[in-house]
Amino acid sequence: MKTVIVRPERCVGCLQCRLACAVEHSQTKELVAALGEAWRPVARIAVYPGGVHLSFPNKCRHCDPAPCQAVCIAGAISRNPARGTTDIDPARCINCGMCAMACPFGVLTYAPTPKAPERRAVALKCDHCPDRQAQGLPPACVEACKVGALSWGEPAQEMAAKGRSLAQAYFAASRGVAESPEPEMIRLWRQLG
Ligand code: SF4
Ligand code: SF4
Repeated sequence: MKTVIVRPERCVGCLQCRLACAVEHSQTKELVAALGEAWRPVARIAVYPGGVHLSFPNKCRHCDPAPCQAVCIAGAISRNPARGTTDIDPARCINCGMCAMACPFGVLTYAPTPKAPERRAVALKCDHCPDRQAQGLPPACVEACKVGALSWGEPAQEMAAKGRSLAQAYFAASRGVAESPEPEMIRLWRQLG
């Protein structure tokens, strides 16, 4: 199941992902028109300063099992097995804040939305842009990030690729370095047979 892969070491803190996310979750899905909408579009990805020249993009991981889903007494959070996401039903959310307290990543936010009854504030978080996915497009934040801090892929394949590149970097760096002597304990252990 594809998900958004985050590489914080590449993030330059430009906030283009937040802008694209807010526009995608607006009513018009168009930047200039979205600025004039009655309900301010809200981004579902945050970018935090992580120190000098460092920033960290943070979004919902769609955990399985999901702590937010487990504590939602209104039954507003459910898993979508086809897309691998935990989705929020704005019609059921009672804005109690339990999901935000349970989420280990602090990704929930609350804001008024026209999709909720009486257009009141409800829980919001990343939904992997279902309208874009239906068209075969990656989430808006991924498309907006031009430095590769966000990508759309299979976690297992991404981890295997990272392992391969780390192995190649290690052997490239150690080529030509004199082999370190075998530690005494290891030599004695080998002698035991
Ligand atoms: S909101 Fe938090 S707890 Fe719920 S699925 Fe996303 S990351 Fe996990
Ligand atoms: S678009 Fe990419 S580089 Fe810019 S803030 Fe978002 S994650 Fe970081």
